[in-house]
Amino acid sequence: MQTTANQFLKPITTKINHVNNIEIGGCDLVELADKYATPLYVLDEKTIRQIANDYKTALPEVNIMFASKALCTSALTKILVSEGLGFDVVSSGEIYTVYKAGADMRKVLFNGNNKSFDELNLALDFGVGRISTDNFYELALLNTIAQSKNKMADILLRITPGIECHTHEYIQTGHLDSKFGFDLTQIDEAVELILNEYTNLKLHGLHAHIGSQIFETSIYKDEIDILCGVISRLDKKFGIKLEEINIGGGLGVKYTEKDEPPSIYEVGEIITDSLKKSSEKYNIPSPKIFIEPGRSIISTAGVTLYTIGSSKQVPHGKKYVSIDGGMADNPRPSLYQAKYYAEIANSKETNQTEKVTIGGRYCESGDVLINEIELPKLEEGDILCVYNTGAYNYSMASNYNRVQKPAMVLVNEGNSDLIVKRETLEDLIAHDIIPDRLK
Ligand SMILES: *Cc1c(COP(=O)(O)O)cnc(C)c1O
Repeated sequence: MQTTANQFLKPITTKINHVNNIEIGGCDLVELADKYATPLYVLDEKTIRQIANDYKTALPEVNIMFASKALCTSALTKILVSEGLGFDVVSSGEIYTVYKAGADMRKVLFNGNNKSFDELNLALDFGVGRISTDNFYELALLNTIAQSKNKMADILLRITPGIECHTHEYIQTGHLDSKFGFDLTQIDEAVELILNEYTNLKLHGLHAHIGSQIFETSIYKDEIDILCGVISRLDKKFGIKLEEINIGGGLGVKYTEKDEPPSIYEVGEIITDSLKKSSEKYNIPSPKIFIEPGRSIISTAGVTLYTIGSSKQVPHGKKYVSIDGGMADNPRPSLYQAKYYAEIANSKETNQTEKVTIGGRYCESGDVLINEIELPKLEEGDILCVYNTGAYNYSMASNYNRVQKPAMVLVNEGNSDLIVKRETLEDLIAHDIIPDRLK
């Protein structure tokens, strides 16, 4: 089976160059750190386009919508628009970003378990193609808004199919205690309301999302089978022909040597095969299928560069080495013990290695980016390259400790372009207001 970049630890263009520094997208990482300062997010355009192409080739009949919550910036959106992808969005901010970057709004799906009046309003005004309705409250709210605009809202029903992925295994139950979507036992009531009362809602299909960092492709087979079964049952009961199923995202990536995510081609085979089998089994026309990968499209393409600063040897304990970033630019290790792989980007004279723990600069003991990694003996000023930071790093970043968010550069064939400016001290106070009586 052909390998795909989500199965690699590093961007596909990563190499050691003639001065023994690491190079990505033809750019020397040490030069990037000099030019743009650190911490710095770096995105490799070739890796992004390669993965987008693998998705298109492996799943020719499937509509691919990038889950913007993994990384939403204007330049990245432009790249994915040029690759023909659609977008899964979850807020007014994401709708606005993809709209301004020129996305075809008909290929945009709006998701979320508590979309506000303003957000639903904006979605209808911007012509978002599908709204995945999540609960009874939202059906009523959306119908009212659509009515007031004299519009039909094109919707999917988000359902909880009773399977859930816990990364290396998955559980199947009749229903799940999930905050997302309609339980299998609530679908009929929702469909009845849509058909009889909510005359400004047009139901096109079903939507589910079963988890993240998925390694086991058979979960998609079970999901497709459940969704096809529901479509067939709703047809028999209500005579309603649902033509679309959106199976969510979730394909895994390789954060460390231990991770073994499947190839996108393996996912493609199982989806194509299951769709055929399940639609035959339930005797329904094969539905149009949508998939919403986030992490697997963007994670591997991104690395973060940090500069090594202070270090501390705890007597009889760990050696801590500190970097100029941490939990505010990458909250995943402190949020859920996410693991990362890293290397030193600059050439090192010594072959000597040592086991160190990479500590962040933020005022929390939990701000440890990597717990115990073997690296060449570190000195201050070394440039640390942390791999697989493209997804859920910048998009989850904060200004904790009143630190400016880093810049992001796009690299390709020796060129580097700034695509997100580093925040300035002025940016940090730009939204502050001092009331007159305090002046
Ligand atoms: C988060 C999410 C995705 C993307 O998940 P990845 O693991 O990043 O692929 C897709 N669809 C929905 C509904 C989500 O909530």
